[in-house]
Amino acid sequence: MKLILMGPPGAGKGTQARRVAESYGVPQLSTGDMLRAAVKAGTEVGQRAKAAMESGGLVTDDIVVGIIADRIGEADCGKGFILDGFPRTVAQAVALDAMLAERGLHIDHVIDIAADTEALVSRITGRSTCAKCGEGYHAVHKKPAVAGVCDKCGGNLTTRADDNEETVRNRLAVYHQQTAPVIDHYRNGGTFRTVDGMLPMDTVYTELCAILG
Ligand code: ADP
Ligand code: ZN
Repeated sequence: MKLILMGPPGAGKGTQARRVAESYGVPQLSTGDMLRAAVKAGTEVGQRAKAAMESGGLVTDDIVVGIIADRIGEADCGKGFILDGFPRTVAQAVALDAMLAERGLHIDHVIDIAADTEALVSRITGRSTCAKCGEGYHAVHKKPAVAGVCDKCGGNLTTRADDNEETVRNRLAVYHQQTAPVIDHYRNGGTFRTVDGMLPMDTVYTELCAILG
């Protein structure tokens, strides 16, 4: 199964990608997670990506295309993969088409999780994630029993540096300008579907599974 999960920041791509990856036994390839890991580790890629990420802009296409090209060549991607946060520009989509064609592969499903802008701002500015197990929380919609502590594993909850209102608004603007056109790139391919990201998370998940079969 080779799936692209699209959607604006805060639509729930990451959460859904994680669940789908777990139940279908394929890896979740999140360029955001990979870039944050590179920044944290202080690698060359991380150093080149840091400023763009902090401002809510996009990291250059050559960096993310390189990361994905390396990653899909790894053994665990043999059964398929879920792309979460990539492609984010038409140029990235074109590069992905080329790297898949080279390997005789193709994308099976492109699913866009749609959501409205104001809801996204409040979702993102209230969210936190367990540093240990990755479970997501929200200050209003999904409070942990003890503030700052994960219900599941007791790990510390962390907030992303780019989840402040100013940066979020910039990320949303970038999404509308640069990532929304990627939808048109796939819309004519026959594999494109949209799900309503304003529905409860479990409902979104059920709808995704219905599409994936
Ligand atoms: P979100 O979808 O909530 O904005 P991500 O974790 O997917 O969060 O991405 C965080 C940041 O990482 C983006 O704002 C951007 O700077 C960078 N990034 C992630 N994926 C890409 C990509 N495919 N192309 C360019 N930049 C990216
Ligand atoms: Zn946890």
